[in-house]
Amino acid sequence: MARDYYGILGVDQGATDAEIKKAYRRLARKYHPDVNDTEEAAEKFREISVAQEVLLDPRKRSIVDRGGDPMEQGQAAGGGASGFGFGDIFEAFFGEGGGASGRGPRSRVQPGNDALLRTTITLAEAFSGTRKDVTVDTAVICEHCHGTGSESESKPVTCDECGGQGQVQQVQQSFLGNIMTTTSCPKCSGFGEIITDPCQKCGSQGRVRSRRDISVKIPAGIVSGMRIRMAGQGEVGHGGGPAGDLYVEVETEPHPVFVREGDNLHLKVNVPMYDAALGTAVEVENLAGGATAIDIPAGTQPEEEIVLKGEGMPRLRREGAGDMVAHVQIVVPTDLTKEQRRGLEELRDSHEGAAFVEEEAGQDEGFFSRLRDRFRR
Ligand SMILES: [Zn+2]
Ligand SMILES: [Zn+2]
Repeated sequence: MARDYYGILGVDQGATDAEIKKAYRRLARKYHPDVNDTEEAAEKFREISVAQEVLLDPRKRSIVDRGGDPMEQGQAAGGGASGFGFGDIFEAFFGEGGGASGRGPRSRVQPGNDALLRTTITLAEAFSGTRKDVTVDTAVICEHCHGTGSESESKPVTCDECGGQGQVQQVQQSFLGNIMTTTSCPKCSGFGEIITDPCQKCGSQGRVRSRRDISVKIPAGIVSGMRIRMAGQGEVGHGGGPAGDLYVEVETEPHPVFVREGDNLHLKVNVPMYDAALGTAVEVENLAGGATAIDIPAGTQPEEEIVLKGEGMPRLRREGAGDMVAHVQIVVPTDLTKEQRRGLEELRDSHEGAAFVEEEAGQDEGFFSRLRDRFRR
């Protein structure tokens, strides 16, 4: 379930970064472990820290604004206590230290880690959905030994150093007297057993690194920063243990014409003042590769927004589409010839009205906030 990050910080959806930081600081003063050492406070502190991180990141915030949960994409799917411990896809291979703190030997067969890749698509590809080939470099099962780690059929033998416990006890002398410490057995690496004839391909790991290309299906309407999960395509574990999942994080390139906001596509249209007064139409190349006609009605004012219903981005895994919103900018000529100037003067003289100061503008609370919000993202 998507968490209510705005609610956690007690700010509303339109909150600025400064308001979010302020709300976070206010709550942090209440729940910081230095001030409040209860468990609930620690949990609350963790919660507000995540909420702040999410809401200050424009991409994550846009996922929240669409009713999603950017943190759930990875974490919930990553599953359980093993966590989502990849920093880099290359790091997972030998770096599993887990199990040393438990009692007894750790299993030689370990579940594999998740892996993360990034890929970039264009806005047009996000619009129509696409397939993308990505190169994955992960641990895969060693075909030579089928994951057993042994060159021959012989089974592993019990480690003679630790007697199969996977741990050894050491006595260290200190000024307090002798201290007994338990550490992972260096001879068997804590597995409690030893492979007597290590596989020549994987050196008893049961897995090898491999590079392969896979095709990722990217759904229409995907939002930049989302992750696609591919079950069982991550790292194979030590001893040929079951593979983790592969996550492909999809980034969208900025588009020269359109700015995406949720499912809506915004664009700017420059309209000469004569055309704004008389009415005209303009065509824009849309993301489907066709042309969308934007009708500019007679009497269109500066800053007016022309909304084309259903011409925006398709909704991700739902019916329908957002809107296309054309923001009109009126272009005033600056290079008039004498004749043109005379023509305009004639037009002016035939028409009522002169420049005047708006009376109620200062009372219009929406005025300045609208200016602020325009093209916020
Ligand atoms: Zn092998
Ligand atoms: Zn041992």
